[in-house]
Amino acid sequence: MKTIPHALHPGATIGIIGGGQLGRMLAMAAARLGFETVILTPEAENCAGPVAGTVLIADYTDPEALARLASLAQVVTFEFENVPAKTLEILGGLGCQVAPGAKALAVAQDRVDEKTFLNTHGVPTVDFAPVSSLADLVEALARIGAPALLKTRRDGYDGKGQVWIENHDRATAEAAFIGLGAKPCILEAPAAFVREVSVIAARGHDGEVAAYPLGENHHESGILRRTSAPARVSPATLDQAQTLATRIVTALDYVGVMGVEMFELANGQLLVNEIAPRVHNTGHWTLDGCEVDQFEQHIRAIVGWPLGPTHALAQVEMTNLLGGEILDWGNLAAEAEARLWIYGKGEPRPGRKMGHVNRLFPLKP
Ligand code: AMP
Repeated sequence: MKTIPHALHPGATIGIIGGGQLGRMLAMAAARLGFETVILTPEAENCAGPVAGTVLIADYTDPEALARLASLAQVVTFEFENVPAKTLEILGGLGCQVAPGAKALAVAQDRVDEKTFLNTHGVPTVDFAPVSSLADLVEALARIGAPALLKTRRDGYDGKGQVWIENHDRATAEAAFIGLGAKPCILEAPAAFVREVSVIAARGHDGEVAAYPLGENHHESGILRRTSAPARVSPATLDQAQTLATRIVTALDYVGVMGVEMFELANGQLLVNEIAPRVHNTGHWTLDGCEVDQFEQHIRAIVGWPLGPTHALAQVEMTNLLGGEILDWGNLAAEAEARLWIYGKGEPRPGRKMGHVNRLFPLKP
């Protein structure tokens, strides 16, 4: 029998912070490899709990719940990046192993820190400026120009917390800043992208990195609608994307799966828009398109197992099922090439991610 030093054995317990669909699919992947799971979420109605062994319903910073989580789990991970720093402090104080680590979370939680970190490590982004006041914004607009995109530094997701500023007018700037709650912001130059792509990369405890082929992403109203993978990019673009992702996970001494969203410019250059220190919606195609999908890959990485293969076995069109679209499950289930993933959420509110469908086609040459 081959033994892997420091690896967790099947039967060990993995803690997952967050009870959404990403936590659900992580728990399913963990179960497939023989691990137990415990979910921590403040929401009594959540969709990860029903597929996990144990669910702790408590606030993310509740000391008692975190002590219980640390006593049950041999390693703890998370399914969203806005985990409070305090949670990690408490878990660290309890000697609990957390993967990915606090550094990746801190960098990904703040858009200015994120872009500063990326640029410091030779990863290009759009030009940007931190904005703490209206005066900062006026100065930043004078330097970067208009139109420009104002985003809150923290807590933005699915296109929320951002607004385009179309001109240099002080009143327009003021309205935008106040509209975002006059919170600390970042002003970003517009990326003249021809496509949005992402790479899902994994790094193991031993520093091994594995990256999947690129996905080409289409958003509607700031929400991911479709991913097509492998994206039809030149070998040079693929190489550029995988090199950038490798640089990022290595610089962070990262363990686990990361989603790296990028803009592809007309000249083929890639700018990194955002990193997500977790499994990612644009990696859902791997569930049916690869031997080892991003969820199993994440579990493998955090328990110290070897990473799995990342090449595509099929061309996949992943479509998110938003809100009431899930009600069409009967027709989708009857489609021969469609693999249906339903998250078991309650009410199909407009825009809510209720499931996704992967449609499989032969790989394009
Ligand atoms: P984000 O919340 O940063 O992921 O942004 C959501 C979406 O807004 C991205 O997927 C892009 O379509 C668009 N976007 C974000 N930043 C920029 C930018 N600097 N220039 C152009 N489009 C952007």
